Amino acid sequence: MQLTHKLSLELLSRLRRRCPVRVCVLEDSPGARILDRLLRPFGISFFSFAAFTWAGTIYLSRRLFNTAGGYKVLRHEAVHLLDQHRLGLPPFIIGYLLLLPVGLTIRAYFEWRGYRETLRAWWEDSPMKAHRRGERLVGQFTSRRYGFMWLPAGMVRRRVERELTRLEQTNGQPWQGLELLSPPRTGQHRHRRRRPR
Ligand SMILES: [Zn+2]
Repeated sequence: MQLTHKLSLELLSRLRRRCPVRVCVLEDSPGARILDRLLRPFGISFFSFAAFTWAGTIYLSRRLFNTAGGYKVLRHEAVHLLDQHRLGLPPFIIGYLLLLPVGLTIRAYFEWRGYRETLRAWWEDSPMKAHRRGERLVGQFTSRRYGFMWLPAGMVRRRVERELTRLEQTNGQPWQGLELLSPPRTGQHRHRRRRPR
């Protein structure tokens, strides 16, 4: 399946300035089928995930290919791609093999970096929706979905709120080091803050 979504293609070309990247269909990946079988005993269906990034390839679910939702997912995966490029694969392998809930896991660190970009993509759509979805995000971190990766919930909730406040204050600026995830700004933004009267 070919990627034809304009914003997604632009994102990939910006990423290629930093590292090689290609996008494949998750459901067609033999590796994903193996991971799905390995995770079933833990009650996790690997194919319920939207995407997965490994060694320069983003495996994106077929249902998200060439959609606006898929573009948001690619932004999240782009953070994993850049982290894997920067640090190498071993921290990811270790982080994702440690499935035990131990408070704050290594994969929580990586996922939080990815979800900060997801929050920014949601915030660009609508700050109000981003607040609602932020609450759902707390569930992602603290449930079995990612193997109870970050407990307790209050700590995640505070991080989400702090990030949404930062987005309000900076008018949706990407955080440091990830500027290339954003297209060059045209000067106008939908959620410009109103000046107090
Ligand atoms: Zn992720």
